[in-house]
Amino acid sequence: MSNSLKTKNIALRVSLKEALFKKWEKAAKENPDTNSTFSGFVNDLLDQLLSKEIFNKKYFPLIQLIGVKGNTAFVKDTRNSEKLIELYLKNDKLYCVHCRTNDCEHVRYSLAVRELGRLQHFLRTARASHLVLA
Ligand SMILES: [Zn+2]
Repeated sequence: MSNSLKTKNIALRVSLKEALFKKWEKAAKENPDTNSTFSGFVNDLLDQLLSKEIFNKKYFPLIQLIGVKGNTAFVKDTRNSEKLIELYLKNDKLYCVHCRTNDCEHVRYSLAVRELGRLQHFLRTARASHLVLA
């Protein structure tokens, strides 16, 4: 069975494809180990994403992201009576309302999850400065 029979085509949004293509070109210039095909590069990114989710579950087994709404992320920490803990951007740093700091396990966990990119303030800032997928 050839590789083409094992694969499925997935449509990418045009804007996403362009950003990923630029990221691939940049990565290829900076790292010779970068996958030599665009498709392979995108697959490597998705594989890394899944591996990171597994890593996060092992590294932060008691904390779970509940959601992101507006400028606030909500996590559940089973050590704290499963209370919802709010985190939001304060002076461009993620701030934990529960611990009253920007340097706690909730902040470290939240920074590690991909969903944090949904924070509206972050999105506006990142898109304005072209940091997304740069
Ligand atoms: Zn905290």
